[in-house]
Amino acid sequence: MVSEQKTADASFESLLRIFTVPEGPDSTLTQIEDELSRNLNKFLREHIVAEEKPLREIEKDFSSPVIPEQPEFVSDHTQHLLDTLVSHSVHTSAPSFIGHMTSALPYFLMPLSKIMIALNQNLVKIETSKAFTPLERQVLGMLHRLIYAQNDKFYSQWMHSANHSLGAFCSGGTIANITALWVARNNALRPQNGFRGVEKEGLFKAMKHYGYEGMAILVSERGHYSLKKAADVLGLGQDGLVAVKTDSNNRICPESLQSKIQELKAKSIKPFAVVGVAGTTETGNIDPLAEIAAICQQENCHFHVDAAWGGATLMSNNHRHLLNGIELADSVTIDAHKQLYIPMGAGMVLFKDPSAMKSIEHHAQYILRKGSKDLGSHTLEGSRSGMAMLVYASMHIISRPGYELLIDQSIKKAAYFANLIKQQSDFELVSEPELCLLTYRYVPENVRQAVAVASEAQRADMNKLLNDLTKFVQKRQRENGRSFVSRTRLNPIQNGSLNTIVFRVVLANPLSSCEILQSVLEEQREIAQTDAPTLLTKINQLADKILAN
Ligand SMILES: *Cc1c(COP(=O)(O)O)cnc(C)c1O
Repeated sequence: MVSEQKTADASFESLLRIFTVPEGPDSTLTQIEDELSRNLNKFLREHIVAEEKPLREIEKDFSSPVIPEQPEFVSDHTQHLLDTLVSHSVHTSAPSFIGHMTSALPYFLMPLSKIMIALNQNLVKIETSKAFTPLERQVLGMLHRLIYAQNDKFYSQWMHSANHSLGAFCSGGTIANITALWVARNNALRPQNGFRGVEKEGLFKAMKHYGYEGMAILVSERGHYSLKKAADVLGLGQDGLVAVKTDSNNRICPESLQSKIQELKAKSIKPFAVVGVAGTTETGNIDPLAEIAAICQQENCHFHVDAAWGGATLMSNNHRHLLNGIELADSVTIDAHKQLYIPMGAGMVLFKDPSAMKSIEHHAQYILRKGSKDLGSHTLEGSRSGMAMLVYASMHIISRPGYELLIDQSIKKAAYFANLIKQQSDFELVSEPELCLLTYRYVPENVRQAVAVASEAQRADMNKLLNDLTKFVQKRQRENGRSFVSRTRLNPIQNGSLNTIVFRVVLANPLSSCEILQSVLEEQREIAQTDAPTLLTKINQLADKILAN
């Protein structure tokens, strides 16, 4: 027997092998692939360790800036990845991982993703994507119809029209929002009387031409941080994103929106776009979209709806009414990698008017020629993968009624969890779920009684201690590794608008059972009562002091 080679070599011959010869049937990589295909959940459960390894420790495995001079065998390296990377990644599809919008994926997406990667299409131009281009345009058409419900003639006329576009597929909600506001900005500062448009002459000359002192985008104070990035990259500055007050349900106050618009106009600042949020990231609430639409119409503003997370609700005929008014939007963002259960990297922006995107059209000589159907002429991004194929496949395999079931069960489960929280004497629901997202915190019963009679200063002191407790419980629960909820900071009116740290739960995973939700609360109670004795003593002392007066 030939002695086995211990190290790989960097010969051209072995390089050719990685392009042509698959790994052998007994190799680590093949075994992993088998495990993955046979039982994905088991694989993830077994390979992601539950207990927390400090990030500082993990960083040690990833500290060398040297590009290796010595090649490794694929199987050896795969084992290395399993040990250092996979094992310390996050089990986002665990049914007890209920803290974020990233959740479980249907099985069929694994082999389909492999096909997508094998084909390695580049959607920027037809020459490298062919059938993927009409497929992506169809996916955009499906989402467009889901929102705007135009007739068949509309879609047969515009879906595949070279010089029009129903929207853009992109890496996520951030790029989708930037694209929508880019279009809005360019349309607001369009060519006029010898001025050749902001896209040609830039913001400085555009402002001089139109006589504006500034440009503004308005959104509720619960707006997503991607909008601030958008204001920045579009040259308005972060101050160009103006926050509008919300009510006790985290929805924008239309009167405040009106008065902010008038304030800006009085300073010659052009409010060119208003963003309505359909599913706020922190609390899951939906703005009164029809009311915002009416204000935008009257003020001649672009109306954008950020439905990155909540947009999938339109799939449910039982709940789509919650987003009434979305069909009045000029543009809408939807992330398929949130509630449409697609892997990360599937954002979309849809435009009501198939001509709207002309204001950002770009052409080049070797690709994106005028009149070509190249998708790259209407996207911020250049090279893009064939992700749309996974959305297309899911739309067919799951179908609209299937998504309806997924959406309905998640909303029902959130209502169940909200009720469960309300039944506990030591938990407090902070924001009611409108969709499948809610926030709450742990407040021992004696503390609740004390807060009810506390002075303003005492209430603020107690709130600080409770914030520390919430933070502590959330971190400890994550470290324990059995379940995960996230946390955020709100200013609920019902808590005197104080900075309030809350647990945040997103219930998208169909495998998250009621028992799991019960055990999440039990674990939190246990941690609060036994793992933070000093903090709890302080809280009880303050409560006693308040109640003694
Ligand atoms: C997630 C989210 C975004 C950002 O989307 P990414 O895909 O993370 O870029 C924007 N807006 C809202 C409301 C979101 O929930």
